[in-house]
Amino acid sequence: MPNYGVPPLVPVRGEGCYVWDADGVRHLDLIAGIAVSSLGHAHPALVEAVSRQVAAIAHTSNLFVNEPEVLLAERLLHLLEAPGRVFLANSGTEANECALKLAIKHGRTTGRRYFVAAENGFHGRTLGALALTGKASIRDQFGPFPIDVRFVPYGDADALKQAVTEDCAAVFLEPTQGEAGVVPPPDGYFTTAREICDATGALLVLDEIQSAIGRTGHWFAHQHDGIVPDVLTLAKGLGGGMPIGACVGLGDAGTIFAKGDHGSTFGGNPVSSAAALAVLTTIERDGLLAHVRTIGERLKQGIAAIGHPLLSGVRGRGLWLAAVLTDGRAADVQAAAQRAGFLVNAVQPDAVRIAPPLVITAEQAGTFVAALPAILAEVAP
Ligand SMILES: *Cc1c(COP(=O)(O)O)cnc(C)c1O
Repeated sequence: MPNYGVPPLVPVRGEGCYVWDADGVRHLDLIAGIAVSSLGHAHPALVEAVSRQVAAIAHTSNLFVNEPEVLLAERLLHLLEAPGRVFLANSGTEANECALKLAIKHGRTTGRRYFVAAENGFHGRTLGALALTGKASIRDQFGPFPIDVRFVPYGDADALKQAVTEDCAAVFLEPTQGEAGVVPPPDGYFTTAREICDATGALLVLDEIQSAIGRTGHWFAHQHDGIVPDVLTLAKGLGGGMPIGACVGLGDAGTIFAKGDHGSTFGGNPVSSAAALAVLTTIERDGLLAHVRTIGERLKQGIAAIGHPLLSGVRGRGLWLAAVLTDGRAADVQAAAQRAGFLVNAVQPDAVRIAPPLVITAEQAGTFVAALPAILAEVAP
């Protein structure tokens, strides 16, 4: 189907932070399949875990249980340092569907009728997640939706306070808006959001599908703010390239569902769970959180130091950055970068997303910073 348009590249092989296309050309991967390939490509720990598990048993279904899914759920709760329950799904949007059903049930049992989400937010393409997505161009033609969602400007604590009353079932937010162009919140925004939800009884649902698993230099981006959500959704970087999603209900939110309320045939798949365990183990063993903070800061400063009229600045945290342009030329920058051997993503007309594998070296990041002036010059001489 033509929904993705014409693809600019056919990757056929990867190793570490490099991918090779069908013509044998090597590229430095600075987008990691949209913040997914956290350990880079063909990482030995991922290859070993997936190979071992697929050879043992590839699928059990939710009629039974498998060891990797249980270990993964326990590991996630350990990293969150909070009691809770985990539902495993196969993608980001499915993790959010689970969160939304939790929120709907919470609303039904407490007489709450509407939901709050952020303008320009992105939560996925299935109808529930799409109803929460604050981007008219992908949302409106598929409405109306069966739930009442009220949108507030992202980062505006007063608007959030106005919008969230005791009739609100849940607030859905990204700790940094990813698809909107890697837009971090103002300081203190999430502390206020937590306070508003505590005061009104609305669930605070954090969509960390793109921001978690080390991407910002912490396991979870909300740990920058020192808050704990009621519900947390994960996907992308968790499986290191294998499809997986997770919805974590913390505290009481973990016990909203009763038997029969939700399910997924593939959810908790042992191969994807084994991959996720390998990702988490490798991040811990190799000290990748500190590595992300160090390399991310260098990359950010390196880009910020480039003086070019097309470049207005750089935003983001850890290895999740956007080079912000003064003009809507991001697609041209993406194409010029690809010709120079670097894969980046024009996430918005004026923002180029950089989200490399967490294992990228200082030297590899440095080659991009060194090449960027010429890439910009090619687009805007
Ligand atoms: C990618 C993304 C999703 C959707 O995940 P899929 O796996 O594409 O369904 C949802 N929320 C956020 C914040 C995302 O970045």
